[in-house]
Amino acid sequence: FSNEDDIRQLAEEINAHKGPWKAAPLVPGAKIGKETVKVTDPADHRRVVGEWIGGDESVVDTAIGNAVAAQPDWDRVPAEQRAQIAERAAEMIEAKRGEFVAMCVREAGKTLPDAIAEVREAADFCRYYAGMTRKLFGQPEDMPSPTGETNRLFLNGRGVFVCISPWNFPLAIFMGEVMAAVLSGNAVVAKPAEQTSLIGYAAVKLLHEAGVPEKVLQFIPGDGASVGATLTKDPRIAGVAFTGSTETAWAINKTLAARKGPIATLIAETGGQNAMIADSSALPEQLVKDVMASAFGSAGQRCSAARILFIQEDVADRVIEMLAGAIDELKVGDPGLLSTDVGPVIDHEALDGLQKHIDRMNREAKLIRKARLDETVTGHGTFLAPHAFEIPSLDMLEREEFGPILHVVRWKSGELDKVLAQINATGYGLTLGIHSRIDDTIAYVQKHARVGNCYANRNQVGAVVGVQPFGGEGLSGTGFKAGGPHYMLRFATERVLTVNTTAAG
Ligand code: NAD
Repeated sequence: FSNEDDIRQLAEEINAHKGPWKAAPLVPGAKIGKETVKVTDPADHRRVVGEWIGGDESVVDTAIGNAVAAQPDWDRVPAEQRAQIAERAAEMIEAKRGEFVAMCVREAGKTLPDAIAEVREAADFCRYYAGMTRKLFGQPEDMPSPTGETNRLFLNGRGVFVCISPWNFPLAIFMGEVMAAVLSGNAVVAKPAEQTSLIGYAAVKLLHEAGVPEKVLQFIPGDGASVGATLTKDPRIAGVAFTGSTETAWAINKTLAARKGPIATLIAETGGQNAMIADSSALPEQLVKDVMASAFGSAGQRCSAARILFIQEDVADRVIEMLAGAIDELKVGDPGLLSTDVGPVIDHEALDGLQKHIDRMNREAKLIRKARLDETVTGHGTFLAPHAFEIPSLDMLEREEFGPILHVVRWKSGELDKVLAQINATGYGLTLGIHSRIDDTIAYVQKHARVGNCYANRNQVGAVVGVQPFGGEGLSGTGFKAGGPHYMLRFATERVLTVNTTAAG
């Protein structure tokens, strides 16, 4: 925010939008069902914020048929024209920011600052990929050629892409996947996470208004096991862009491998088991501030979130005490209030899974601190008090706990290699934080950790489009980062035209 007036104006804009919102398949010619699913506010499940109608096998079939028919013409639309549509979409997102922020708060439980950042990121994706469209798809590339011929390399869309997205960045990741796929010349069928169908629907409606043809971008809400699986097993699709859990990526990979048809591309951004390492040279105040933001921001539901703090033994007691004090200060509550630090987790299923993990940690590990919950505020929502535990090693952790739970492990001087080995042994490779005032240590950690994004002396929050391309490796993803210069190439195919220039005239 630049000043108080801005905040007041934005608050008014946001408060003007309370829903109820709706969503349904956007598939021309499909027969849409009548059964609706109610969406409730994660901060107070008594509040209904909207409802949606899902798709079924026949809707999927119609959508893919439409997409196959529409893609070749779309692929021939000049890159400049496609880029302008994306830029128009960015402006429209900004014009509707109040409504999108309100939806991110009420459907996804995002705090105001997180929701605002999310809306900004969605617009950033549109503008960044517009630029990349001009750069990569604007002109064919002349290849060095022998005398008597020319060779030119063209980038084209691959065909029909299915985009499947998660609930934790319901607008930004949804928009990023869809725009990269569409702008590369593909027709897209998008399936949002079932928890955030309303936001996905609003995003697709906006893109249609901005100029993306209705058969080039279609939308089908529904759950993963039915709509997601039906979309990915279709032999007519050329690829899947997926963001979500590693388990689901494995399932999609298997489905794609079992089908006959084009050899499909899988672009997968998946889970993490992210750590932050701090040595005894780290500035304690900065460290604690950054651990708090990385572990508990967005209720720990960022894929980049720090789940583990490795703290060097000689400063561990002091840092742990400061951490406990900072947890006491956390305000858990209504994400629509600027005073709130931590909002709810997404739904009851997530809450139950996290509570099971906490119960086990309470039995097997040492509790450092549990944040206070004010039941009068949180009683009807899916809130979880942030927790920090001290554990002896990473062996105690399960895969991909996804909530406000931090695990602290002490390490001894001279054992940095052991710490790095433990982190690499998880097989995940998304983010890593390093807090140290020794430059060589930062360089060493970056070189030896197999992670996509390494953050030094700051928090692990941040994937600014075009600035910090984001994505992991190993169990965390297929590489090539969203919001980076190479991402759109994954959605494209290369074609070469060789012309014999001696045959002319
Ligand atoms: P999820 O895997 O449960 O669901 C993601 C999407 O996949 C949803 O749309 C879901 O409906 C769909 N899906 C589920 N089963 C499917 C199937 N068999 N076939 C096709 N589609 C299917 O993940 P989630 O709970 O929505 O999101 C949280 C996860 O996403 C976390 O693990 C988080 O780390 C990860 N994530 C990663 C990144 C990244 O950039 N690496 C970003 C955000 C989230």
